[in-house]
Amino acid sequence: MQVIQNKSQLREALKRARAGGKQVGFVPTMGYLHDGHAALIDRARRENDVVVVSVFVNPTQFGPNEDLAAYPRDADRDMALMRTHGVDLAFFPTVDELYPQGYTTYVSVDGPMTQTLCGRSRPGHFRGVATIVTKLFHLVAPDRAYFGQKDCQQVAVIQQMVRDLDFDVEIVACPTVREADGLAMSSRNVYLTAEQRAQAPGISRTLFAAREMVQKGERRAAVVSEYIKKSIVTIDSAAIDYVSIVDSKTLSDLELLSGEVLIAVAVKIGRTRLIDNIRFEV
Ligand code: AMP
Repeated sequence: MQVIQNKSQLREALKRARAGGKQVGFVPTMGYLHDGHAALIDRARRENDVVVVSVFVNPTQFGPNEDLAAYPRDADRDMALMRTHGVDLAFFPTVDELYPQGYTTYVSVDGPMTQTLCGRSRPGHFRGVATIVTKLFHLVAPDRAYFGQKDCQQVAVIQQMVRDLDFDVEIVACPTVREADGLAMSSRNVYLTAEQRAQAPGISRTLFAAREMVQKGERRAAVVSEYIKKSIVTIDSAAIDYVSIVDSKTLSDLELLSGEVLIAVAVKIGRTRLIDNIRFEV
């Protein structure tokens, strides 16, 4: 595995790697890798000749009172995981490398899709995401890029951006990988105290129970949403940011559940903000 920090080396390495028409799969991450990331890497490994993984804690997608400085980092551990999973090129750029002094250009996916769910509580977040993904797509020029459904709105926003800006890349959305007790894997889970960690699976349990409620016949979003809220407030030190029941493609609110439905929640447990979602056909 080649470890690269700067853009020109990355372009050079990719030029060589791509020779003879080899296909490039790309997995952008913020590091502190876990089995959720590994599943994306494994899929990229199966479907491409060359696998590129980036690790970059992107400052432009964090709000002023968010956890940019505290975000967990462990490059050695990340490199070990990448080696185990057969990554060819590991890109660890610095902030200056991607946002040099005088940087002023941003990509913003406007419209209702970014004004709901996390877009409402994290203004500017998706502008930061769209900007960094654009930059990385230009640098890596992947044939396929892999994203996790855990960040369902991110996938929808990037698919919209790729359509709108004519990026020549296939976006591959991969299922959420969970701990044995159902908690969605996340680099941020490390923030949880032992007591909070024990409580956190209540979020996914609630989502699964809500799905069952719908599968048994309930179609009114307000009733399902109320059930979820009541269930989540019983989790110690949990505060709901949002509970949204939306159409999985447009992310617009549903009153009656039908078609491919997405139930997405953001919950603060203590100071840690966790997101989770489930998607299913009604
Ligand atoms: P992050 O490092 O958290 O920015 O995530 C990098 C990529 O990994 C994103 O596409 C995430 O959606 C994806 N990812 C993070 N956690 C999981 C998970 N538990 N299951 C599947 N994909 C995930």
